[in-house]
Amino acid sequence: MSTIEQNLQAVRESIAQAALEAQRAPGDVTLLAVSKTFGADAVLEAMRAGQAAFGENYLQEALDKIAAVQLALPQGGPVWHFIGPIQSNKTRPIAEHFDWVHTVEREKIAARLSEQRPAGLADLNICLQVNISGEASKSGVAPAELPALARAVAQLPRLRLRGLMAIPEPETELSRQRAAFAQLRALYEQLKSEGLALDTLSMGMSADLRAAVLEGASIVRVGSAIFGSRNYS
Ligand SMILES: *Cc1c(COP(=O)(O)O)cnc(C)c1O
Repeated sequence: MSTIEQNLQAVRESIAQAALEAQRAPGDVTLLAVSKTFGADAVLEAMRAGQAAFGENYLQEALDKIAAVQLALPQGGPVWHFIGPIQSNKTRPIAEHFDWVHTVEREKIAARLSEQRPAGLADLNICLQVNISGEASKSGVAPAELPALARAVAQLPRLRLRGLMAIPEPETELSRQRAAFAQLRALYEQLKSEGLALDTLSMGMSADLRAAVLEGASIVRVGSAIFGSRNYS
């Protein structure tokens, strides 16, 4: 068995254990494999091990990888999620090449994605990134501004607002990890109680996926636990 295949099995096992602990069905948690900095060969290897969804942060790198995977698998590639910061002049290729975007934090970006989503493709799935740490330097919409943003994005054609995403401050203690995810979950429940049809909480990475699943994550975004540590040079 390859390392990626072994790692995938171990991550799936951790998700299943945490789901069991939370009395949730393991199938309710989708594993998003974050392949940033790794090549198309790593994506293809993970696909051979049954992995169906991949997350990318850097647009140009992602576009090259998507094209390479498409060439190798012309009859059906994986589901691609964009999870990196979005520059407003780079929305078109995101709208054209991805199935999901997790990092929408401004209405202007959502409006551009809506305008630029090709009519022949399914609606683009959107998660709003929320700044739950409350730091001015952090990405994401402030919780106080979230309801207005969510209502606006839910109205846009060719987008489907699915839920919320956050990247909390790194914490080593489980209880502190859980507290941050519980905040995102509360915001999500609040929006649902106001009538928005949401079904996705994108939270949890390699180091805090147990806490995220215990707090109700429906997508966990896992990179290094699957592909190994990243080399940015
Ligand atoms: C890189 C990244 C991940 C994966 O992080 P790991 O710690 O390698 O699991 C998840 N989400 C986002 C937004 C990322 O940028």
